[in-house]
Amino acid sequence: MFRSLFYKNQPHYLQSLLLSSRSVFRSFIREGRAMRLVQDEIEQLEYDKNRANDFIHKQLRLQVTNAFENTPYYSRLDFSIDNVDNYVDVLKLLPLMEKSTYLTRGDLFLNQNYKGFTIKGASSGTTGVPLSVPQSLESVIRESAFVWRQLKWAGYQPGDKRAWLRGDMIVPVDSLTAPFWRYSYFENMLLFSSFHLEEKTISLYIKAMVDFGTNIIQAYPSSIVAIAKYLRHRKMNYPGKIKAIITSSETLSIWDRKLLESTFQCAVFDWYGLFERVAAIGTCEYGRYHQLTDYSYVEFHERDGGLHEIVGTNFNNNLFPFLRYKTNDFVTLSNKQCPCGRHYPVVDNVEGRSRDYLITDRGKRLTMVSQLYKNINGIYAAQFIQESIRKLDVLLVVDASEYNAFSRSLLISNIKRKLGNSIDVVTFIVDSIPRTQNGKVKHAICNIEEF
Ligand SMILES: [Zn+2]
Repeated sequence: MFRSLFYKNQPHYLQSLLLSSRSVFRSFIREGRAMRLVQDEIEQLEYDKNRANDFIHKQLRLQVTNAFENTPYYSRLDFSIDNVDNYVDVLKLLPLMEKSTYLTRGDLFLNQNYKGFTIKGASSGTTGVPLSVPQSLESVIRESAFVWRQLKWAGYQPGDKRAWLRGDMIVPVDSLTAPFWRYSYFENMLLFSSFHLEEKTISLYIKAMVDFGTNIIQAYPSSIVAIAKYLRHRKMNYPGKIKAIITSSETLSIWDRKLLESTFQCAVFDWYGLFERVAAIGTCEYGRYHQLTDYSYVEFHERDGGLHEIVGTNFNNNLFPFLRYKTNDFVTLSNKQCPCGRHYPVVDNVEGRSRDYLITDRGKRLTMVSQLYKNINGIYAAQFIQESIRKLDVLLVVDASEYNAFSRSLLISNIKRKLGNSIDVVTFIVDSIPRTQNGKVKHAICNIEEF
């Protein structure tokens, strides 16, 4: 809707009305009876491990049976699921599913007997390959319930005023004048455009957030970190009272998280999810990442450098069952218990989302690439583009008054230490890091095919 000529040509107040009307559907879902039932169901699983285990096995049985009965791919497998007791064991015998298989032969995985309402959602993806997964209405409701639970963990209460700073193209991209935000009446939320967030506009964003009385911020890490860096550079904290920041969709580094916590004086709740709905990782009030075992069935497959790839089976979309889907996203596992008392396993970090990593000369993945410049004066943001083991281009957004030859040599020395001495590094100073179609910023783009 936001990219249509009709929307672009409306005055601001009508644009606000149009985006509010979109939220009516979300409100209809959020406040409906079906949503309340799912909320009650999953709320009872948080602290009750036995109950959660029963639930997980039931969900797995339903989805595996659904796939074998209703999709061409699984019904043609020479494999029987009759008289099965343990569907976890069954799952381990099934082939892994690659994203490329889904993109080329997705029709084989579609439930042929589904008769309900279909929602065609699409993500532009961060790797440039568009992904569209049809969803049932039940799937949308269940997804909303899990997102609601994360909001609740973050302290959200009805009536809270939210600022939304993500990839919605709510302001035409060629618009040069403020306001770069619109109001959604039914959600009590101010939606900001990530696409217009620049050094010269940031102060306007901050003022609008404060004037609105924002107490919860939902944002892409790159967008909210840009605001934090702007404030920190001026030795300021955010001049308002924020309960929580909820980030998702991009990698949030440990130091960026600390920067947000200190600049906004609040806790940060990072959420990992993906459009295929095969895994979700939420953050509790103790700041720990929990893999939500009642959302999907996840296997962690060891890769390299202590990283584990997330391989997931979705529970919540009976129209499109993904069994053992390779996400190409990685976590660092943890054996810690969390004081919050929830039984969901803890992971230390979610790293390397959608190829957001570089490859060292020893063939290892280097994640959290902002470590390469985090302590160097004058570098606001960077993007690393790796075409081969020996060639790295670096786009840099800098403060010209602080960035100098010494900063550059420090950066190159950091890169060589991590990636290998033989790498050829070329730096480019740019005004801003290019955004994806969804307004995301990728810290690294690794174009080495074998990974
Ligand atoms: Zn916890």
